[in-house]
Amino acid sequence: MHNIPTPYYLIDKQALQRNLNIIDYVREHSGAKVLLALKCFATWSVFDMMRKHMDGTTSSSLYEVKLGYQKFGGETHAYSVAYADHEIQEVVANCDKIIFNSINQLERFAQYAKGKPVGLRLNPGVSVAGFDLADPARRFSRLGEGDVERIMAVIDRIDGVMIHNNCENDDFNRFDELLAQVEQRYGHVLERLNWVSLGGGISFTAEGYQVDAFCRRLREFARKYGVQVYLEPGEAAVRHTSTLEVSVLDIGYNGKHLAVVDASTEAHMLDLLIYRETAPLGEAEGEHEYMVCGKTCLAGDIFGEGRFSRPLQVGDRISIGDAAGYTMVKKNWFNGVNMPSIAVKEADGSVRLVREFSFDDYVNSLS
Ligand SMILES: *Cc1c(COP(=O)(O)O)cnc(C)c1O
Repeated sequence: MHNIPTPYYLIDKQALQRNLNIIDYVREHSGAKVLLALKCFATWSVFDMMRKHMDGTTSSSLYEVKLGYQKFGGETHAYSVAYADHEIQEVVANCDKIIFNSINQLERFAQYAKGKPVGLRLNPGVSVAGFDLADPARRFSRLGEGDVERIMAVIDRIDGVMIHNNCENDDFNRFDELLAQVEQRYGHVLERLNWVSLGGGISFTAEGYQVDAFCRRLREFARKYGVQVYLEPGEAAVRHTSTLEVSVLDIGYNGKHLAVVDASTEAHMLDLLIYRETAPLGEAEGEHEYMVCGKTCLAGDIFGEGRFSRPLQVGDRISIGDAAGYTMVKKNWFNGVNMPSIAVKEADGSVRLVREFSFDDYVNSLS
């Protein structure tokens, strides 16, 4: 093990390279441009590596678009559910394209675009999403415009649309069906555009994904409408690349063997709670089963259950899997728990600490 004190997130560049190779393949065979969705992953220490295989970034806010522009480069898409008056000029200064969420926002702010391409978010009303919370096409959704007539009324003022209606969709056929529904309903809109972003949520780097069929579909779509296609992967770019490295602080038994570690789901891997998931941990074969728990006072602060080859002891280190997407961008100071450092494992196996947090950071996060 490394000497770095736990807790820390560990990004494995070799694992990241595997995803980036698939992204390169998709770019080459589909003609699509691929932008990193910063809301999922914004750990800029590895952007040097990622920018060789991705065309740029997309964003959800002024700060994200600035981060993408300054730290990643390439093509920088600005999007936000709603821009404020005081943000718009800085957003435009830091982007290559600006995408509005509503026709209202388009009408309010398009005049500031300074000749940069303007887009609109299209909400086709259909989606693949397991959770209502994360379903952009849910009832009463505020995410994008869906009415064909209203969109056609402003079609001369937009160059493209962004459609984000997949969430963790690992089935090419469902993606294909969904896109066909979009084409059927919005074909006249698509014909008038220069570019279409198909958003994120497509698990095309997952094992077994029909990558070639996906590329063919994107290429045909691009040709049919005469558009440049963009993809905006977050999770697909960083899945299976990182772990949260923790140490066991206490061991107990209460009907199950418990191991309390020096990190927390709520503070460091929040989506486990939101989406009621458990993290992969332990070894497939081990005989000793433990429930691995966080150290906050939240009763349900549980990372998951795993098997280990020997009984766990105080001081043992554990790797909690799938800790890249929607983790570091969401970490917080709940319970005043020490915030995990960030480390990068290079291709040669060496590990480099790239960020540490201290008591001062905690103090400075409040006043
Ligand atoms: C969240 C989001 C993404 C990235 O989604 P993933 O599921 O992480 O791939 C891309 N585009 C938009 C507009 C988003 O809201």
